[in-house]
Amino acid sequence: MPGVKANTQGKGKEKEKVGGGGAAGIKERKGGGDKVMCTVCRSEFNAKAARKQLQDHVDSKHSKLSIKECFPDYTHDLGA
Ligand SMILES: [Zn+2]
Repeated sequence: MPGVKANTQGKGKEKEKVGGGGAAGIKERKGGGDKVMCTVCRSEFNAKAARKQLQDHVDSKHSKLSIKECFPDYTHDLGA
């Protein structure tokens, strides 16, 4: 039955589309970035760096600012 076969293939394609579009697309939109940049002095850090590493940078270089002000792109481990 050609009709049934076509239907099955269509479903498969749909699944592929959803899986491929999600996470990869988001990463690209962020600039392929596994890095976060300090918006104040443009120092780069690994996006998966421990929060403490960024905190140390902020404390020593921009003690009047918060991590979120220096690294607005850094969402890892910041919580709410
Ligand atoms: Zn900085």
